[in-house]
Parts: sequence; structure tokens; C-alpha cells
Amino acid sequence: MIPALTSLLLAATSPAAAADLPPDQIPIDCGPCAGWNRDQAPFRIIGNTYYVGVHGVSSVLIKTRAGLILLDGDLPQSVPLIVAHIRALGLHVNDVRWILSSHAHFDHAGGIAALQRLSGANVAASTVAMPVLQTGLLPADDPQYDAGKGQRFPPIAHVSPVLDGETIRLGEVTVTAHYTPGHTPGGVTWTWQSCDNLRCQDIVYADSLNAAPSGRFRFDDPARHPNPATVLRHSIAVVRALRCDVVISVHPEFTDVFAKAAANAADPAKNAFLDATACRRYADDADTRLNAELQREASAH
Ligand SMILES: [Zn+2]
Repeated sequence: MIPALTSLLLAATSPAAAADLPPDQIPIDCGPCAGWNRDQAPFRIIGNTYYVGVHGVSSVLIKTRAGLILLDGDLPQSVPLIVAHIRALGLHVNDVRWILSSHAHFDHAGGIAALQRLSGANVAASTVAMPVLQTGLLPADDPQYDAGKGQRFPPIAHVSPVLDGETIRLGEVTVTAHYTPGHTPGGVTWTWQSCDNLRCQDIVYADSLNAAPSGRFRFDDPARHPNPATVLRHSIAVVRALRCDVVISVHPEFTDVFAKAAANAADPAKNAFLDATACRRYADDADTRLNAELQREASAH
């Protein structure tokens, strides 16, 4: 076991003073952060795909013949838990070859710098998110810019840009980037397949489609072209139209991830994650929230 990993695993079980931690693992303090970072035992979602995140923020692992792909790194303080979860599955963080980012907010990208340092993996994100990840600073056109000024996250040393529709291949698995801006300017939804002898299932790691502005940001802003509501509406339509047998959202409660895992534990003969309507329902819920936000903005102005 390498020394850095030893200290990580110790940190997972005993609270370490922030001064003892490397800079990219110093905890971010936010209202819901402690609840989000509650531990969550890892589990298989389907075939090659596992949940290794914490209770309130998703991190998903894809196992391939040529190594591992990790989607998102959660909070900086989630890193020792994610490392321990990968280990509990009999796998090793050293075998992570790619870390793919959904969107550049502290609760999904905050752990990526440390996970890249530990694994040596490549990090991939949209061309728009790349400079955000490399600085840890939100751009002024991010809907949470006003709140985000105090929520910088550890900058990521090297980020590879992926274009909309571009793929990343590792072993037998191909992961496709679908740009889904709106919650952030550079958000990406990622898709891949899990195949057995009988058939392949389409898996969607759905980025946030939440109209969640802070401060003065307005989704119905006549001064912005294109209008942020139009941008988000288009991304919602992109997710609704995806080939989708399994959906996992970046915050697990939006797609009932743990209820499905519990159903699988109770009845292993069926897989509750298989639901051809799940992406459409996720998109419908996002539409409802956007409509409510537009109503709130209209009544406030
Ligand atoms: Zn976010």
C-alpha cells in the first residue's frame, strides 16, 4: 500500500485535522455537505457499472478489461470514501485510467484533483468546463456564480477537452459525451453500454438539469443570448431522447438510486435499475422545476 493511500484510508475512518491533509483534500464546508458526505456502501448497478459515491453525491465506476473509468469525484472530503469503496469492490484506485466530469461545481468536481493525483488518471470534461476545472473558479455565467464565490474547489492539474458527441474508449467500453449545459455552462451527460451474452443495456449518467440559480442570476434573462432557460430546455430534451435503459443522476435521490438498490438486494432476480421510462421521467421533473423557477422569476420582477 502506498503511503498516500494509507493516510487516505485512515482519514476515512478517523477525522483528520485539515492541516494534516494535502491541499486538494481539505474539506469544503457547506450547509448540506455533511449530509451529502455520509458514507454509503458501494454496490453494483448493472454488469460493468458500480456506485462508489457518497450518500448525497454520485460517483460511478465502470470496470473494463483495460482498467477503470470513474465518473465524478464528489467533495474533497469524499475522496477517502470513494477510494475505500473501490477497494471494497476488490478493485484499486491505481487502475482508474479516466475520470469524467459531469459539471464543474464543488460537490461533483471537488474530489477530482486528489483522485487524479492518487491514480494518475486522465480527466475529461467539456471544452467549456475545462478552464473551470483547471482553476476551481466558477465563471460569471454560471447560475451559482454568486453563491460559488466562497466555494472554490481544488484545481485539477490536467484536463482533456471532449467535444459534444465525442467518445472515450477504454478496453471494450466506449463512453460518449452529450453536452447538457444549463445547470452549468459546461455540463456533460455521459452514456455507455453494459453487455452480457444476451444483450447490451444503455446506461446514462445524467448531469444535473436543475434550474438552481443563486443571487441575481435569472433563467429568463432577456440580456443573455441564448436565454439560459432555452439552453436548459434543450438539454432536458437531449436527455429525454437518449437511448436509456438505466439512469443514474449526479445527485442519487433524483433517480431513486438507493430505493432501486434496496429492491435489488431484496429480490436479486430482477434489476430495478432497468427502467425504459427513467430518463423521460428525469427530464419531465427537470421541466417542472424549470417552469416553477420561471414563474418565481416572473413574480419577483
Ligand atoms: Zn451543481
